[in-house]
Amino acid sequence: MKSFKRTLLATALALLALPVMADSAHPKIGFSIDDLRLERWSRDRDYFVAAAEKLDAKVFVQSADANEQKQISQIENLISRGVDVIVIVPFNATVLTNAVAEAKKAGIKVVSYDRLILNADIDAYISFDNEKVGEMQAGGVLQAAPKGNYFLLGGAPTDNNAKVLREGQMKVLQPAIDKGDIKIVGQQWVKEWNPTEALSIVENALTRNDNKIDAIVASNDATAGGAIQALAAQKLAGKVPISGQDADLAAVKRVLDGTQTMTVYKPLKLIATEAAKLSVQLARNEKPTYSSQYDNGSKKVDTILLTPTPLTKANIDVLEKDGFYTKAQIGL
Ligand code: BGC
Repeated sequence: MKSFKRTLLATALALLALPVMADSAHPKIGFSIDDLRLERWSRDRDYFVAAAEKLDAKVFVQSADANEQKQISQIENLISRGVDVIVIVPFNATVLTNAVAEAKKAGIKVVSYDRLILNADIDAYISFDNEKVGEMQAGGVLQAAPKGNYFLLGGAPTDNNAKVLREGQMKVLQPAIDKGDIKIVGQQWVKEWNPTEALSIVENALTRNDNKIDAIVASNDATAGGAIQALAAQKLAGKVPISGQDADLAAVKRVLDGTQTMTVYKPLKLIATEAAKLSVQLARNEKPTYSSQYDNGSKKVDTILLTPTPLTKANIDVLEKDGFYTKAQIGL
């Protein structure tokens, strides 16, 4: 009798476990992206979906179109769909605490993609080493303008990356400031990394400083594009060294024609593929390999940090060799 009961119990348990096992063989992943209208993030999506499908996962993609309320309700929607993992590119780093808590309560793993979600119980973070990106940006500009007046054009105040980039930039700039070689004549964050906003910020900075700005440390290519338009209006494009990141096609062309000093190449296929692998491992309760930990205000988050590459005119062909663009696209 006892053994009959035990067999019954074991069968019941096995039946209960069945749907879970079936799920983990074909994990469902929600991908909540800040803004798919931007070139960068739609490439991330394409690479991520392709890599996840290769691992037998199904991906549900949502774009919050730079709206924090929309992102929260999209995450709630993914929770009620019963996904196994939610991967998030947060629009606002500080407003997802409750949404993440809800996901965790439902047994869903949460991955922070490229940008860190602060004060939330996330399972993992994957990004490029943003402090290094900041060092590369400041280093590239400092090499081109070792002395003079500097303007710092920061990223979105809602994006933790903006702050980390600035930390990296200051690591490189501080010794030159201390020596009296360079002077920071202004600094501003650019709401939503918006190029039009960057344009008017730099326009105003030029006016305020009688055009005496010798270098601009810009935190990405989109904002650098706006800044370069403001410089061009004063016939200063190509004369004022300026940085960026992302290797956006427009920026690559500016690097080649000399109006932008450098950009930073972050192979999106690599981060997307690694993130898909990580998500599937979490869904299957396997142990991913992490390279570091990052404090997000509520815990030390297991982190994978990938390596960025600085690009100037001299090594722009890396993009073609890596398959990021064709020769024709770059115009080489
Ligand atoms: C990313 C950059 C991007 C920016 C604007 C940052 O968090 O790291 O690659 O240019 O957001 O979308």
